[in-house]
Amino acid sequence: MKKTKIQVGVLGATGMVGQNYLRLLEDHPWFQVSYLAASSRSAGKKYSEAISGRWLMKDEIPEHVANLPINSVHEVEEASKQCDLVFSAFNLEKQAVMELEEQYAEYMPVVSNNSAHRLIEDIPLIIPEVNPHHLQIIPGQQRNRAWDKGFIIVKPNCSIQSFLPPVFALIEAGIPVASLVVTTLQAVSGAGYPGMAALGMIDNVIPFIQGEEEKSEKEPLKILGSIQNDTIVDLDSLVLSVHCNRVPVRHGHLATVSLKFRDNQPSLPEIRDIWESFEGIPQKLNLPSAPNPPIVFRDEIDRPQPVKDRDAGNGMAISVGRLRECPLLDIRFVALSHNTVRGAAGGAILSAELLKAKGYL
Ligand code: NAP
Repeated sequence: MKKTKIQVGVLGATGMVGQNYLRLLEDHPWFQVSYLAASSRSAGKKYSEAISGRWLMKDEIPEHVANLPINSVHEVEEASKQCDLVFSAFNLEKQAVMELEEQYAEYMPVVSNNSAHRLIEDIPLIIPEVNPHHLQIIPGQQRNRAWDKGFIIVKPNCSIQSFLPPVFALIEAGIPVASLVVTTLQAVSGAGYPGMAALGMIDNVIPFIQGEEEKSEKEPLKILGSIQNDTIVDLDSLVLSVHCNRVPVRHGHLATVSLKFRDNQPSLPEIRDIWESFEGIPQKLNLPSAPNPPIVFRDEIDRPQPVKDRDAGNGMAISVGRLRECPLLDIRFVALSHNTVRGAAGGAILSAELLKAKGYL
């Protein structure tokens, strides 16, 4: 039978992010999961066998995936025979991830959730509504690295996806932003499965997440940066101070934000209007996973909340609320996004849809 969909592999298919890929890709109009990989602990087993007792999604394991065999993430050549693109969401130390993703990129496009390549200057770090134009450096990346068919693009840290799109919407509307003070309240699923021990998390807040504050302060500058000579140069006119906390919430990263404008301050109704009318390229192209609207403004005084708002737009929309004046900077607001959907698998699938729509696949 002729395969009409793009065949995709999921590396790290047994993990928290991997499971979300399999759930979100079931019945996807453009992509079909044809290949699975994980650690040597899972390799050689059927997916349903390897995942026994740790399938965390509400729905059953997609039927055609349950019977697929799992390979080791190290079997790059085998993957190249069975799929046209890989979504990378496996855990290994940074250098090993870089080497492996680059091996895959010799054969096919890699859309990564891992942080290893995020700050490399010829690798696009994509939020599809914010910097879709950064895909333009892909041909340069391929030239730099002598890659023929493949390339790497990366999805940013889950902590920034709640607050960066609303900030970008203001910048795009011609209102430059000078500084941000952000406090994140991040769900336990952000640490993968099984993640933090329950006894360390229940009735508690952990005011430290390894590497998260550094990523949350650096990645936005690259995402908002400009293209120069086939590389991305960071925006140098924005300063962020980010405090990251792990809280006993299952899914949904919340961020409280204080923001200072560079020039004049728009009125609160103007800001709300900018957010509510914001549309990115994914919405204009009507991509299959694009939420519409991408930013949902909540009027209620006590929203957004993880339990009530994380599934907005199938987990792909950003919810904002509590917009008010700030006595220290200019304005304050609260933003929320679903960390394993928009912040992980869903955001990467939307990036792959953008790649296809723009002719890179
Ligand atoms: P996870 O639930 O711990 O899953 C880890 C995956 O990596 C599993 O498939 C596991 O396979 C595989 N793995 C573990 N050790 C390995 C090894 N030595 N060699 C090859 N594969 C190995 O983690 P996760 O939350 O899905 O995160 C996966 C990646 O996405 C990480 O880079 C993480 O930083 C990133 N990410 C996560 C989130 C989130 O909200 N959770 C958001 C954004 C980005 P086995 O089952 O065989 O051990």
